[in-house]
Amino acid sequence: MKVGVLGAGQLGRMLALAGYPLGLRFCFLDPAAGSPASALAEHVVAPWGDAQALTQLAECDVVTFEFENVPVETVEMLATRTQVCPGAKALAVARDRLHEKTAFQELGIPTAKFAAVDDAAGLASALSEVGLPAVLKTRCFGYDGKGQHVIRSAADADAAWRALGGQPLLLEAFVTFSRELSLIAVRSRSGDTRFYPLVENEHREGILHLSRAPARNLDPAQQTRAEEHARRLLERLSYVGVLTLELFEVGGTLFANEIAPRVHNSGHWTIEGAETSQFENHLRAVCGLPLGSASARGPTAMLNFVGHMPPAARVLGIAGAHLHDYGKLPRARRKLGHVTLCGASPADLEAKIAEALALLEP
Ligand code: AMP
Repeated sequence: MKVGVLGAGQLGRMLALAGYPLGLRFCFLDPAAGSPASALAEHVVAPWGDAQALTQLAECDVVTFEFENVPVETVEMLATRTQVCPGAKALAVARDRLHEKTAFQELGIPTAKFAAVDDAAGLASALSEVGLPAVLKTRCFGYDGKGQHVIRSAADADAAWRALGGQPLLLEAFVTFSRELSLIAVRSRSGDTRFYPLVENEHREGILHLSRAPARNLDPAQQTRAEEHARRLLERLSYVGVLTLELFEVGGTLFANEIAPRVHNSGHWTIEGAETSQFENHLRAVCGLPLGSASARGPTAMLNFVGHMPPAARVLGIAGAHLHDYGKLPRARRKLGHVTLCGASPADLEAKIAEALALLEP
């Protein structure tokens, strides 16, 4: 079976690595030459709307994406010629924060108060509706904390408008959370679902830094609640594949922040830390195969290498460490690789995390 993938970044590369043992073949489309997946598989370098490239992709048995800023029209066009999972509907909801939040609201999933902002007058009325502090975000194309501005005072509002005004925006109430969690969920073509244990995520400068899975002191009721939220989303979107739900924990409540219609950085730990990785389960889902267990094998962590890769020998000197180097050129704020740390116990895992964090010190 041949899988077409829109996007050839590290997520695509890890999809290919998970798919080869299953006998799958891959064809990637990405406008950027030399992307991480190109070292492993056929890579068509062309714009997203290129007719010849899309004909090549449409020859695949199924097409999926590892990047949500692909034009919806590209996905719609491919869907007329081959199977595309998850579909254009899921992509259209996930790439626009207003649609995403509206879906949470309609499905009864708690989320921060929000209001759409289309012009300067709209910002003033949104601020009176949502209150302060608040976060102004671009509706589309925001990632790794880009395209957002915290507003704590009227003066901040002017600065935020100057930085982001002129494009569709969303204002949301600032959530004072105790921690950030994510749930990686997967749904098969036949509607079967699996949920990984909740992951606890720490960010640095808006970029994922460290994930611990399962989240520490995980209340089973919290896991059940998160799964119920994700199940409603999967069903509403007739979803096939991996869906990631990002959450803020506030007391016993989980507020949905956003969804990603794809495998996710906070699920990289599953490669070594779960019975079946998120990449393999995504492929099983989109190829119409049975899903694998999403159970954790033990306490696991994932540390991102951003802007700089520590020497491989030092990373691998940590017992239970698994290194992933995406083969990218170093650049500030760029995700270059990660390490997965498998612990014998929660205390052992914390010791390994401390060792790995020491490698990031200058
Ligand atoms: P996002 O692009 O929506 O995932 O936001 C990036 C990061 O900004 C999140 O992981 C949070 O740490 C923070 N953030 C986003 N929205 C809010 C909010 N409404 N309240 C508090 N922090 C937020």
